Amino acid sequence: MYYKLGISKFNEHLIDVELNFQAEWENPILELPNWTPGSYKIRDYSKNIINITCDYPISKLSKHQWKITSAKNTNIVVKYQVYAFELTVRTSYLDNLYGLLTPASIFFYISDNNNQIDNKGNQIEIDIRIQKNWKIFCTLNYTNSKYLAINYDELIDSPIGLAHENGYELLEYEIDEIPCEVVLIGVKGNQNIGKFKDDLIKIQKYSIKLFGELPYDRYLWVLYVVGKGRGGLEHKKSNFSIINRWAFNNDEDKYNELIELEAHEHFHAYNIKRITLDKFGPFDYSKENYTKLLWVAEGITSHYDKVTLPRAGISDEEYYWKNVSQSYLTLLKIEGRKIKSLSEASFDAWIGLYQPHEGSHNFDISYYLKGGLVSLMLDLEIRHQTNWENSLDTFYLELYRLFKTERFRYTDENFKQKLEEITNTNLDKFWKKYIIGVDELDFEYYLDLIGMKIEYKFEKTPYLGVVLDSSKQNVLKVRSNSPAMKGGIYSKDKIISINQFEINKSTYDTIFKNLKSNEIVKIHFIRDQVLKMVEIQLEDPIISKIKIIPNESSSDIVKNRRKLFLMQSK
Ligand SMILES: [Zn+2]
Repeated sequence: MYYKLGISKFNEHLIDVELNFQAEWENPILELPNWTPGSYKIRDYSKNIINITCDYPISKLSKHQWKITSAKNTNIVVKYQVYAFELTVRTSYLDNLYGLLTPASIFFYISDNNNQIDNKGNQIEIDIRIQKNWKIFCTLNYTNSKYLAINYDELIDSPIGLAHENGYELLEYEIDEIPCEVVLIGVKGNQNIGKFKDDLIKIQKYSIKLFGELPYDRYLWVLYVVGKGRGGLEHKKSNFSIINRWAFNNDEDKYNELIELEAHEHFHAYNIKRITLDKFGPFDYSKENYTKLLWVAEGITSHYDKVTLPRAGISDEEYYWKNVSQSYLTLLKIEGRKIKSLSEASFDAWIGLYQPHEGSHNFDISYYLKGGLVSLMLDLEIRHQTNWENSLDTFYLELYRLFKTERFRYTDENFKQKLEEITNTNLDKFWKKYIIGVDELDFEYYLDLIGMKIEYKFEKTPYLGVVLDSSKQNVLKVRSNSPAMKGGIYSKDKIISINQFEINKSTYDTIFKNLKSNEIVKIHFIRDQVLKMVEIQLEDPIISKIKIIPNESSSDIVKNRRKLFLMQSK
């Protein structure tokens, strides 16, 4: 298969594509993916395919399939355009300064009429035509002026960054003789690429300590610096992120969050891009691919992205615990933690985490958030059970060895058994409570194992149970079992007054501070353009702040374990 991309219609946001291939069977079918790995949502990329033509009769079979009427061995040329104006790491975008091409939204594979065979195993050549003052960033092999993907999965895993010469900043470096590039694309904010590169190297060095080596022969960090938006997507040899252009101030948490995002995607180069599930490749791009283990992909990675910072010497211990405290507080405010297990949330990602609505928080839980906290507990559980001989690191190091020697992949069914086998633990109870069950996390017990304790602070105002927008009038969410829900406030209601005092941004704090727990209040609100009133009994204040702090009365052995945990262990 041979693709020619013509990139010149910047202001139209159109990519001209020409596909050349020889039909391996009669009546070949062009298929465009409906999703891309790492982002578990049906995205219907085909909605952006326009003006498709072919020198043989071509007709549409379904939303993402086109049938070409031709004989076997015919040389076929298909031309089409892709509309690209959605700047996320899972879609495509093109303007007069830069572009991001997500391969799943651009490149077809070919299948037969009965959907039984396809050419995803074939190599693919790509010729990108763009003005000379533009630069292309892509990890596919580049020879004879063409990019070469050894198969379709590799193509899909290799996004293409484009930048006008005025629109990027690039630094190249080597680590263990592996060439790496970091490129910042977009309108500059306060970026300091030199300092940033040094921290990326620290992330890579931490990975080397953990796994013994870097898993790739080159690596590309591509970051789009924008005013609004955030996200990253993992790939085998690269990491494409979208970040805030003002995130580079070293004194602020925003910078640590940026480094965490990069540490997250880099850990994926091992966890999920190599150490992975049996069903993660070759992928079926036509429909949802279900697994109960997305919490392993994302939760364990979220745990490592946080702990990488102190372990790699990028942030101090205090920042790490502040970060964990914040996650735990967020979890405690999501009622869905009592309803959906990590295992179920993983399976439902396609209709859950990726398609949230105003009530999701009451029924669903993020496998990133809860998965990260449970992974921290899992690490401590393994350490505790093995008298600090083994840890989650032990498990990952061994899985990486098995991947390299046997191309080992785990399954939904054998993951737990493999984890127990390698770490010499029994995790029956842990699994029942926290992975397939919805028990409250016994976080204090685990923190105590490393000499930490939790300090709780409570709100100064009574509990109503709504999340309001910045105007302090419009109800975004209503929490389960809250006074607001029991009393009949819905999301989308607009609160006008409490006890007949007008509620808005400037009055909200004063009015709430003067209310008492258990007080019955009159709330006037507008629903569907009609004024309504309810009486609601407020409840005791809820937790407003969590601080995880050292327990000074812990023994030296326990304090030492904390040091060991926050340092790179074996
Ligand atoms: Zn991730």
